[in-house]
Amino acid sequence: MTKKPVIAIDGFSSTGKSSISKVIAKTLGLIHLDTGALYRGITFFALQNCLDENQKLDFKKLMQNLPIIKLEFQNVDGELQLFLNGQNINKEIRFPQVSDNVSQVAKEAEVRNFLLETQRNIAKQGGVIMDGRDIGTVVLPNADYKFFMTASPDERAKRRFVELQTAGEKTDIETVKQNLNTRDKIDSEREVSPLKQADDAILIDNTNLNKEQTINLIMSYII
Ligand code: C5P
Repeated sequence: MTKKPVIAIDGFSSTGKSSISKVIAKTLGLIHLDTGALYRGITFFALQNCLDENQKLDFKKLMQNLPIIKLEFQNVDGELQLFLNGQNINKEIRFPQVSDNVSQVAKEAEVRNFLLETQRNIAKQGGVIMDGRDIGTVVLPNADYKFFMTASPDERAKRRFVELQTAGEKTDIETVKQNLNTRDKIDSEREVSPLKQADDAILIDNTNLNKEQTINLIMSYII
């Protein structure tokens, strides 16, 4: 049997990386790892346990606490959900407070190093599709296939807004757009593993493509 591929999907926030990776994983029988969920998990922990007297994130405290953070994905009704030290935090990691702070946490080299091994261990056996910001450039530079996803800021904000509304979150499109812009800026400009297209990644702009069309386009390169 031929070895299953290792696929890296990077790109801007709300380009559909995770939901598309999930479908491709199912189609090709791969494990899907949403690496953004790991950064969100650490941020959720920090917001609960590492605030200073002004209710701001205390990064020093977070770094001291990294060794006691255990993040793992468990299968719940056929879907991989994130657990933090045994607690299911799959819903909580999508809360706006987490979205507002995650890029500051993800900027920290210690946080990135802490998660690097977890991510590489999962890919060791092959047969994985991993989505994030630095998968093709840093985490899995030897991936068999690399894609970099983008779409216009307006389109991305619209998609995330609908997603949040469906999940019952009260928000407005301007707030959503601002969060996406801020995260993209911090993610692209940070010193350690910034968000950027790997030289050998295929650019996928899905501004005018729906989910199915995007999946078909990516699959056309794989098969
Ligand atoms: O993918 P998602 O939007 O859930 O990611 C949340 C945040 O986690 C990103 O905005 C980025 O700051 C961080 N992240 C990262 N590297 C990854 C995946 C996510 O820095 N590989």
